[in-house]
Amino acid sequence: MIEEQHQQFMLEAIRLSAQGASKNEGGPFGCVIVKNQRIVGRGNNQVIARNDPTAHAEIIAIRDACLHLEHFQLEGCTLYTTCEPCPMCLGAIYWARPERIFYACTRVDAAHIGFDDQFIYEEIMAEPQQRKIPMKQLLRLEALKVFSAWSDKSDKTHY
Ligand SMILES: [Zn+2]
Repeated sequence: MIEEQHQQFMLEAIRLSAQGASKNEGGPFGCVIVKNQRIVGRGNNQVIARNDPTAHAEIIAIRDACLHLEHFQLEGCTLYTTCEPCPMCLGAIYWARPERIFYACTRVDAAHIGFDDQFIYEEIMAEPQQRKIPMKQLLRLEALKVFSAWSDKSDKTHY
């Protein structure tokens, strides 16, 4: 695809970000997912509208695209997001495995308007015992039995 086509898809993501913010659905973030030069998923931040802290633009667009593609991975897809993804969305994007990502604003731009992910990046790097939300290990051996059963399961779908 030529640069101008990528820009058109990013402009659609930007349009979604502005529309969602103006309707007070959530922060000013938008995302579209494209396969074979067609939009297969759209999303804008809907944290407020859905009372869902995980309803970021990228998460909604990934769910929309997977629903349309009837698959749990975004093979051959390109993701356009109006801002560098937060740690949650970056993780979700890696699980979804699109081919590539275009982003517009940076995480520093987002921090300037009150969306600062730095705290989460620091928490990811910290040992579980040192995180701000207390984490304590419990019943590992009991849970491991299910892992063993999964390991031995012959009819599982790999992903
Ligand atoms: Zn996010």
